Amino acid sequence: MNLKIGVIAGDGIGPEITAQAVKVLDRVFSLYGHTADYIPLLLGGASIDAFGEPLTEETIEQARNCDAVLMGSIGGDAATSPWYKLPPDKRPEAGLLRIRKALGLFANLRPASLYPELADACPLKSGEEGRSFDLIIVRELTGGLYFGERYTRETDGVVTAVDTAVYSENEIRRIAKKAFEIAGKRRGKVTSVDKANVLDTSRLWRKIVAETAADYPEITLENMLVDNCAMQLVHAPEQFDVIVTGNMFGDILSDEASMITGSIGMLPSASLNESSFGLYEPSHGSAPDIAGRDIANPIATILSAAMMLRYSFNMNTEADAVENAVRQTITEGFRTGDLIRAGEDRSAALGCSAMGDIITERIR
Ligand code: NAD
Repeated sequence: MNLKIGVIAGDGIGPEITAQAVKVLDRVFSLYGHTADYIPLLLGGASIDAFGEPLTEETIEQARNCDAVLMGSIGGDAATSPWYKLPPDKRPEAGLLRIRKALGLFANLRPASLYPELADACPLKSGEEGRSFDLIIVRELTGGLYFGERYTRETDGVVTAVDTAVYSENEIRRIAKKAFEIAGKRRGKVTSVDKANVLDTSRLWRKIVAETAADYPEITLENMLVDNCAMQLVHAPEQFDVIVTGNMFGDILSDEASMITGSIGMLPSASLNESSFGLYEPSHGSAPDIAGRDIANPIATILSAAMMLRYSFNMNTEADAVENAVRQTITEGFRTGDLIRAGEDRSAALGCSAMGDIITERIR
């Protein structure tokens, strides 16, 4: 397969971590007989520096012509960077919101997994031996409470604020389909999270998810109320495979899920549209405090590249090869500085590119 991959290196540690992910992709492509062209794209601070805008029409067009886009991270230190003296719609993050919209990315995938070797980092029952979990949150990204009509009004001296949550059948069906397809590539279980005991949008959500489930008889579906899900995530995260939920619940639960891994440098993410196109990026930001020092952890970006292989290119064996190489690297004890706990020997900490090399060498 000959692929066209957009690469947004971005700001801060972005260029360092994307370089490692490209190194890994090159290795996996050469081992498995694929080729790729990498198209550099500017977004965020780097685009402001070049064009005075966080996103240009040309970048959107170039991204549309790619099979998928890999991104480092964008943004700078809000206290010191000149980008944050610009109006909000000209700042780096505005470019990211705009490109997601322009590319129709409605499904946000945030895996949260804990390797047994890193169980010490998990804040739950800290240090429990052998604890591990591996779940993915599929969040609807373009509807619900964050996109409904909103206003604040004053009547007879009383101020009232209103936000509206709206979901259509079609919006629910397309995200449910994504969740079932993803579960088919994993352990075959979907937990649909809503607040169906209160909200009409949730009752419709539950009905449409159940209807969609009929097309996926091999997948187990369970429904869970969002308050219970918030508790279960910190009580027994091992029970989850795929969690599918609406925009606001997904926003909150995906941050909760990432915190229980305790390792921000390890968590990938993807945003998908209705076809196989996706934007793949680490869950963390541009870490301006450590940029340019070759000490960032590239694993979240490398695992984002593995998600690209799996979800945009349907290359499951290749994706497994990358994920297994990361797992082996961790099992063998290699660590970047962020994975070394207080009191442990820091002198053996690997740099960003050394970690990229070690993972690349382990791809089979
Ligand atoms: P951050 O995730 O960049 O950093 C938080 C802390 O985690 C820092 O101490 C950082 O050094 C550390 N860290 C993050 N990634 C790491 C890695 N790969 N290896 C080792 N350590 C790592 O969050 P922040 O400081 O709140 O934000 C910095 C900038 O990133 C801001 O401009 C913010 O808007 C932007 N941001 C961008 C995205 C994105 O591109 N999608 C997401 C979140 C934040």
